[in-house]
Amino acid sequence: MADFATIRDEFPILDQQVHGHPLIYLDSAATAQKPECVIDAEADFYRTINAGVHRGAHELAARSTVAFEQARAKVARLVGANAQEGEEEIVVTGGATAGLNLLATAFGNASLGRGGEAAKRFALGPGDEIVVSQAEHHSVLLPFQELAVRAGATLRWLGLEDDGRIRVEDAGDVITERTKVVAVTHVANVTGAITDVAPLVRRAHEVGALVVLDACQSVPHIPVDFHALDVDFAAFSAHKMYGPTGVGFLYGRRELLEALPPASFGGSMVELAWMDRPAQYMDPPARFEAGTQPVAQVVAAGVAADWLRAIGMDQVAAHERAIAGELLKLGELDGVRILGPTENRERIGTVAFDVAGVHPHDVGQFVDAQGIAIRVGHHCAQPVHRHFGLFASNRASTGVYNTVDEARALVEAVSRVRGFFGA
Ligand code: PMP
Repeated sequence: MADFATIRDEFPILDQQVHGHPLIYLDSAATAQKPECVIDAEADFYRTINAGVHRGAHELAARSTVAFEQARAKVARLVGANAQEGEEEIVVTGGATAGLNLLATAFGNASLGRGGEAAKRFALGPGDEIVVSQAEHHSVLLPFQELAVRAGATLRWLGLEDDGRIRVEDAGDVITERTKVVAVTHVANVTGAITDVAPLVRRAHEVGALVVLDACQSVPHIPVDFHALDVDFAAFSAHKMYGPTGVGFLYGRRELLEALPPASFGGSMVELAWMDRPAQYMDPPARFEAGTQPVAQVVAAGVAADWLRAIGMDQVAAHERAIAGELLKLGELDGVRILGPTENRERIGTVAFDVAGVHPHDVGQFVDAQGIAIRVGHHCAQPVHRHFGLFASNRASTGVYNTVDEARALVEAVSRVRGFFGA
């Protein structure tokens, strides 16, 4: 049984006062805080083995290569991906946004005929369709919308239930024989809703479409196994899973990664380069990792992945669900509306809410004055706000270090907001 009070003590940043109050950090959906072991791993890498990875003839390069590849394997183990040499299914990226853009660009390159016969399965053209949902973060919506424009394909989307959950039962109508790609979020960053992925995957595969999962908000909070989910690709960010900023990962089924053409070009991804014809590219994952990689950050992300596995994702989910239960009491306050499912089983501890008559920035500043950090704005998901008839909202989101008492403190503070602003 994990001891979450001790786990909290591993986060030095939380031991501080903000505006004369102990810091209550309820903004982990934006970025999670880092435990000591992750901070140390990054610093230790620079102190002891910093060197460029792969093909260096010197000892430090060999050690940093081992550390880098071990980190990839640690991340793979957290999300149920292959880690064996030659079978790797995890590509290092600059973050979830970079991973999703990598995919959209690679599909676009395949649409231009790059990657030969094997890449034809990724090619799109007029008459083809890409399906997203209205709950998507702009990091999913925009790369695939742009891909549709470039390829002359059509973007379609799954709408939302009143409480913001994706209307999965529309899959039969929206995902058709024309669909080539279905890109959806596993957990929505505004509503906190967990998508029922299985029927979407079933329908997509029935019509021969590929499934791209945005796993940014699921990997840090609930058990995730990409093989069991049977998705084709998935993107997530290290900084939301207690790792460093500037790095993320793209999962791809091995045979798909082998067929996918590269999206960015440069050093360390090429077998043979010539002046008079296109290069011959390396096998994945190197094919997708052009240029010098954020090695220290990847190594520290591997430590974060192992650290999460040691706690146990079931335990993490249960701990945060208890806090979410308390946060959902925001919905019982006069004039406060939860933007997302109120049933705690269907969601994580990311709870967005609207306070009638009070601008989200005022709510954010009011609770900040009491040391409570929440997020305000549209959270890079304007269409989902439009669904709720809003442009912006307030969002509290949990991490392993939060407590039920902290959630109570937020609810208590929000209960005074409308009175304070005369709303
Ligand atoms: N998708 C979702 C659901 C997110 O919450 C985020 C981060 N806010 C992203 C994608 C993009 O992640 P990053 O900014 O780390 O690239």
